[in-house]
Amino acid sequence: MTGASLSAKPLFNRLALIGIGLIGSSIARAARAQGVVRAITATARSAATRRRVAELGLVDQVVETNAAAVEGADLIIVCVPVGACGTIAAQIGPHLAPGAIISDVGSVKGSVLRDMAPHLPANVHFVPAHPVAGTEYSGPDAGFAELFVNRWCILTPPDNADNGAVERLAAFWRALGANVEMMTAEHHDLVLAVTSHLPHLIAYTIVGTADELSQVTRSEVLQFSAGGFRDFTRIAASDPTMWRDVFLANKEAVLEMLGRFNEDVSALTRAIRRGDGETLFEHFSRTRAIRKGVVEIGQDSPAPDFGRPHPDLPRKPLPRPYASESE
Ligand code: NAP
Repeated sequence: MTGASLSAKPLFNRLALIGIGLIGSSIARAARAQGVVRAITATARSAATRRRVAELGLVDQVVETNAAAVEGADLIIVCVPVGACGTIAAQIGPHLAPGAIISDVGSVKGSVLRDMAPHLPANVHFVPAHPVAGTEYSGPDAGFAELFVNRWCILTPPDNADNGAVERLAAFWRALGANVEMMTAEHHDLVLAVTSHLPHLIAYTIVGTADELSQVTRSEVLQFSAGGFRDFTRIAASDPTMWRDVFLANKEAVLEMLGRFNEDVSALTRAIRRGDGETLFEHFSRTRAIRKGVVEIGQDSPAPDFGRPHPDLPRKPLPRPYASESE
């Protein structure tokens, strides 16, 4: 089965996806739907994910190693948390085909450029990218072909990038429905620290703080979550590994935005400043569970776009352990 069905002239022969969770599987689905590649090869870290991707039939070939995935590929997109990008570049560097375009989807660009570039041979084109689109869900089941439609994809080509390669990658993202913008990696990281990273940090903080307030019972937090808190719970359910890596990788820009926040934010600030990924991960994992509770009691739809309006939400009593003893 080939990836090209709709387009008379696919932009690439073989797309290799290293990592195929929410973003990688959305790329696979969209690339197929639009016929922009002839074939897709994918790999993931775990056998369970590789098996699931094969079951879903998202790609033409699922292989076990990163090196095998890039064999014969003319477009390689690394779709893993940003902290893992350097290791992967070291693994695939010697196996890349001359002239191939290698890109990524990481939410931080300076660290990706710094970590990946030294491992890539001179005869390939490295063009980092960040599709500014996502949901709080993870894994290959969570992806969908329309994820990038009318969303921005920011390309951050290094100074010496080949214009033709940059334009081919831009054409790929446009074919998936995205609007393409170019900027330096440094500028990207500053802009995204304000528009994405800091809001996520605030959401993670507020949801965690509310969880800890002794005078607000868990049931009240969940029951009255429509007052803005509900939306924070969606953001705060985002993948703990991905966001731990974002804050560690974009430490400088995020810290610059943080001065005016209260002591709960300071606690997260301290964790980031110290590179304490474990604390961040634990905090983010706790907030993710709260979001699950909100969805389970019908305060919001599990649909990625919040599913609003959703007048048919079930009016159910609060389930335990969120309900108080008197309910
Ligand atoms: P995801 O659904 O959790 O998928 C991550 C993929 O990376 C999985 O295939 C996973 O393999 C693999 N992986 C995780 N840790 C790894 C490691 N240490 N070494 C090798 N492979 C590893 O994540 P995602 O949401 O697609 O995010 C992927 C990238 O997209 C991240 O860099 C993120 O910053 C960026 N991004 C995310 C969003 C968003 O909203 N989620 C939006 C824009 C950009 P296994 O399943 O086998 O563990």
